Amino acid sequence: MEESDQHSGLEMTPQQMRELASKATDILVERICALGSAKAWDGEFREILAREFDGPPPESGRVAEEVLEQVARDVLPYGAQLDHPRFFGFIPSSPTWPGILADFLASGYNINTCSWLVSSGTSHLELVVLDWFRNWIGYPETAGGLMTSGGSAASVEAIVAARDSAGFPQQPVVYMSDQSHSALIRAASIAGVRREHIRIVRSDGEFRIDMNALRQLVSEDRAKGLQPLAICATAGTTSTGSVDPLEEMADYCEEEGIWLHIDSAYGGFALLTEDGKKELNGINRADSIGVDAHKWFFQPYEAGALIVKDGSKLENAFSIRHDALQDTIWGANHPNFSDRGLQLSRSPRALKIWMSVQIFGLARFREAIQRGLDLANRAASYIETQPVLELITPVSLGIVCFRVNLGGQDEQSLEELNRKVLAHVFWDELTFISSTNLKGKFSLRMCILNHTTTWDDVQRTLDLVVRIGSTTEDR
Ligand SMILES: *Cc1c(COP(=O)(O)O)cnc(C)c1O
Repeated sequence: MEESDQHSGLEMTPQQMRELASKATDILVERICALGSAKAWDGEFREILAREFDGPPPESGRVAEEVLEQVARDVLPYGAQLDHPRFFGFIPSSPTWPGILADFLASGYNINTCSWLVSSGTSHLELVVLDWFRNWIGYPETAGGLMTSGGSAASVEAIVAARDSAGFPQQPVVYMSDQSHSALIRAASIAGVRREHIRIVRSDGEFRIDMNALRQLVSEDRAKGLQPLAICATAGTTSTGSVDPLEEMADYCEEEGIWLHIDSAYGGFALLTEDGKKELNGINRADSIGVDAHKWFFQPYEAGALIVKDGSKLENAFSIRHDALQDTIWGANHPNFSDRGLQLSRSPRALKIWMSVQIFGLARFREAIQRGLDLANRAASYIETQPVLELITPVSLGIVCFRVNLGGQDEQSLEELNRKVLAHVFWDELTFISSTNLKGKFSLRMCILNHTTTWDDVQRTLDLVVRIGSTTEDR
């Protein structure tokens, strides 16, 4: 690039900008359109990547197109293709094109949704989107929240709000089931709860928190002079999709004056369907709820949200006066989102949600979520027709836990067999499933929520498991 007196050397001409962006667009459109016939996973060893990439940064720039091509060829493909129609591992994510473009626009406008003064437009859209979420949950108008990087940040902010609301107890204790996400343990320890005061409560046969065990732990802790701060429920556990007994937990938290946080990072958007609404009944009784739009609401990473039933509790915990920001107080009803959480500089995460819903309409989102629920149910029925497969838990919120079971084997050999099956499926690369541990039982696991997944994708995957399971040696 040429340098001149007017330009710093870090600018591009309008033509260069257009050409480069158009090339990036071509790369993306090609990738997305070919996903179904590509590998569901690819990876590369560090030493191979190091050979190409290690070393000091170049002093002079390179041809921009070449850099773009290199990244598209040698960097970005190496990973899980989380939006692949046959990626069923962990929690998949399948963003839509308007959401992707919204992130691009947000970077191009360089928006910082920290305060109303700095970003009125996107601050307002954040309020709009949070109000949609509030309605879907069934929270009152006093609720308030913010968009976060994801469920992890939402959990931290929830527990910090709970701690503030409880008046900073000296010996706080946080409770969650053995099926909870590790993000909650991390959140509690970030919020200052000692590790030995994070109680992992056993779950029952349906992977829901055991209320008797919870009650007993809380009363033991009170007797010891500790202060129960928050109980974390999960509405959609990552292993099985199970939902804790929300109503019962809410009753108990009310009686005991303990904050109820519901981690619904992955399952929350099932609220948009009739079936999901039933499964998540009682969710609106929580003090705070975390949801992740980059999971079941088809957005690019990062698109989490925290909603607190009494929004003022969030601001009380996070709002701190800062002299250098004294000009940014617009006034009542013009919130500064940086007063609600841990980030000051924040990307406008609500923009992608707002734009994609405007462009497709909510009905299509609802149908896409229902489609995932239906495919998971159909997968379960199919598994039950296969003599070599065993459904381990009832399907819940799009998660199917199953294994190859040829009969007459003990748990140990079943685990060995299924580990082998998993490895074979993995190296096959055309589909990706993962596994989990269900109270000692090794289980294969599929999470079906990609809006581009068809029954054929699900069936091919199950058929592959059947084929590998029936032919794997050491039976
Ligand atoms: C994904 C997930 C999290 C963590 O959320 P991030 O967006 O990855 O930070 C927490 N809890 C549950 C139930 C999840 O599914």
